[in-house]
Amino acid sequence: MATPVQQEPLFIIMLGAPGAGKGTQARMLSEALNLPQISSGDFFRENLKNATPLGLLAKQYMDTGALVPDDVTIAMVMDRLTRPDCANGAILDGFPRTLPQADALDKSLAAKNLQVQRVALLEVSDEAVISRLAGRRVCRDCQAMYQVEFNPPKVEGVCDVCGGQLYQRSDDAPETVRNRLFVYYKQTAPLVGYYFAHSVLVNIDGEQPMEKVRADLLAAIRAA
Ligand code: ADP
Ligand code: AMP
Repeated sequence: MATPVQQEPLFIIMLGAPGAGKGTQARMLSEALNLPQISSGDFFRENLKNATPLGLLAKQYMDTGALVPDDVTIAMVMDRLTRPDCANGAILDGFPRTLPQADALDKSLAAKNLQVQRVALLEVSDEAVISRLAGRRVCRDCQAMYQVEFNPPKVEGVCDVCGGQLYQRSDDAPETVRNRLFVYYKQTAPLVGYYFAHSVLVNIDGEQPMEKVRADLLAAIRAA
C-alpha cells in the first residue's frame, strides 16, 4: 500500500505596502489552503478593542502610522505560531515588517526544522494605495474587507458575510496613510531584498482585479 506523502508545513508571507491587498488575499488563501491567517494588525486592533495593556501600547504607534516596537510584536506573533492550528503552516499577513522581525521568524522556524516557503510581494503603485485606503471599509465583527469603489458591500455600511457594521479605520486618514507609506519604504521594503536573497520571493501584480491576483498567487504557491 502506498504511504501518504507527508506535506511539509507551509508558511507563506504576504508582503507589500499598506493597502496592497495583503489582508484580502491572505483571507482568501487561508480558506483555499485551510491554514490560519495571522494578521499582526488585527491582533493589535483586537487588543485595543479590549483595552488590554498591549492594545493601549500599540495604539500610540498605530495612531501615527509608526510600527509597534519589534520586541512586543515578535513576542506576540511567535506565541501565536505555537498554537496547534499552525501545525500545517500559516499565512502571515503584515508580519514580518522589519529585518529583525524576519530574522526572528526564520530562527524560530529553523529551530523546528521549518522555513518560510513563499513570500508574495503584492506590487501596487502609491497612487493606487492612497485611493484604495481612502475607500477601505472593514467589518467590526468578522474583519471582512470592502472598498467602496472596487468591492462595495451589497448594502452600504453592512457586511455581506455576517451583517456586521462596517467602519473606516482611523489610520486610513490620508495624512496617516502618507506616513505609513513612508514607514513601509524605510523599514519594510528592505525585506524584499532579504527574501529575494533567500530565493522565496515571488512578485505579484497587485493592481489586477482581486480574482486575477488570487489566481496568480495560488499558481505561485503551487509552484513552490
Ligand atoms: P492591506 O492588508 O495590504 O493593507 P487590504 O487587503 O486591506 O490591504 O486592501 C486595501 C483595500 O483595497 C481594501 O479596501 C480592499 O477591499 C481593496 N483591494 C484589495 N485588493 C484589491 C484589488 N486587487 N483591486 C482593488 N481593490 C482592492
Ligand atoms: P495593518 O493592519 O497591517 O495595516 O497594521 C496596522 C498597524 O499595526 C501598523 O501601521 C502598525 O502600527 C501596526 N503593526 C501591524 N503589524 C506590525 C508589525 N509586524 N510590526 C510593527 N507594527 C505592526
